[in-house]
Amino acid sequence: MVKAPKNIAVIGATGSIGTQTLEIIDSHPELYRVTVMAAGSKVDKLIELARHHRPSLAVIADVTKYNALRDALEPLGIETAAGEHALCDAVCRDDVDMVVTATVGYSGLAPTIAAIKSGKDIALANKETLVVAGKYITSLLEKSNSQIYPVDSEHSAIYQCLEGEKRENVKKLIITASGGPFRTWTADRIAKATASDALRHPNWSMGAKITIDSATMMNKAFEIIEAKWLFGFEADEIEAVVHPQSIVHSMVEFNDGAIKAQLGLPDMKLPIAYALGEGKRLKGAEKPLSITDFATLTFERPDAGRFPCLSLAHEALTRGGNSACVINAANEIAVAEFLAGNIGFNDIYKIIEKTLSEITFIENPDYQDFVTTNNEARVFASSLC
Ligand code: NAD
Ligand code: MG
Repeated sequence: MVKAPKNIAVIGATGSIGTQTLEIIDSHPELYRVTVMAAGSKVDKLIELARHHRPSLAVIADVTKYNALRDALEPLGIETAAGEHALCDAVCRDDVDMVVTATVGYSGLAPTIAAIKSGKDIALANKETLVVAGKYITSLLEKSNSQIYPVDSEHSAIYQCLEGEKRENVKKLIITASGGPFRTWTADRIAKATASDALRHPNWSMGAKITIDSATMMNKAFEIIEAKWLFGFEADEIEAVVHPQSIVHSMVEFNDGAIKAQLGLPDMKLPIAYALGEGKRLKGAEKPLSITDFATLTFERPDAGRFPCLSLAHEALTRGGNSACVINAANEIAVAEFLAGNIGFNDIYKIIEKTLSEITFIENPDYQDFVTTNNEARVFASSLC
């Protein structure tokens, strides 16, 4: 029985998913209360949000910003802390029932592991955790009471479609992709794309890193890996299709030929609310979809020629071990360099491919191996930029 209000830790509170999560919590005080809020380095935004939401604890990962946080919030009776360890301690507190992992990139791994080890439920937005260490996280979950509820819209859709169904009846998962801003661009034009071109996502308003991942289609590669670990399917049972309207959030195909889909507007409120509610529907979670406004829904095969990052999902899953950790680290470096204007759009894939071929393969990585792999891959990828 879930107690109400449920105590929520939002890590990555200042970001796109974090602020939308806080809005849902704010509208439903009878269901949810924020007890922990954490952010990377945007201390002013964290202070502003903490003043409004009044958590018990606010944490900033960047220790150089700690004094500002403490001086602003301790007079209000809000505890403060800084650093990665503080983030891991924060998610394990007694006054946390569920952790929303809304940080970006590799930074989600350590707090997610800490949360699982202390038996906290997780609303998982940070897909990179399952990309980097899916097998390891799955084995931790087997020894814990912790449950993961997907926030990513495609995985929420699949989760909704699988409700009440038997695993043996499922043939495959079909993950939809908008195709990003360069879906209709020629290869020559894509080669010259700038950061501001790539940041112009046609349907979704998201953080910068995932928006670039959508433009390269690395986001879809990551979502295939995420689906494998969340739902226990093999790479050849997970397909990506391009659906430019982003209305069908994903589908499940069954052995009898039936396909179930979940539809809605491109709005993260519903998947966030569904995860917070552990699969219960929250009335009015998002604006209803008027289906006649979308008379035409189209689907097309993705073009791995123009978007080679997509093929990295199957490569990572076939190789296994620390391969996806290498891909993630190299991607994080390459995306940051692309956003800074230091490399071209197609260099993102080249840097990942080269890094993957250079970093030592580890078949059964433990946590320390992920730390080492992540560091080595970052250093190597940076040296290529
Ligand atoms: P964002 O860039 O808007 O926000 C990132 C948040 O993480 C910020 O609060 C930032 O302060 C925090 N952060 C950054 N580095 C940190 C660190 N080292 N330690 C602690 N906190 C840190 O990102 P976003 O778009 O909200 O995405 C968050 C996660 O959710 C990503 O993994 C993304 O792939 C996933 N996701 C996002 C969307 C979306 O619509 N935005 C959809 C599906 C999945
Ligand atoms: Mg998604």
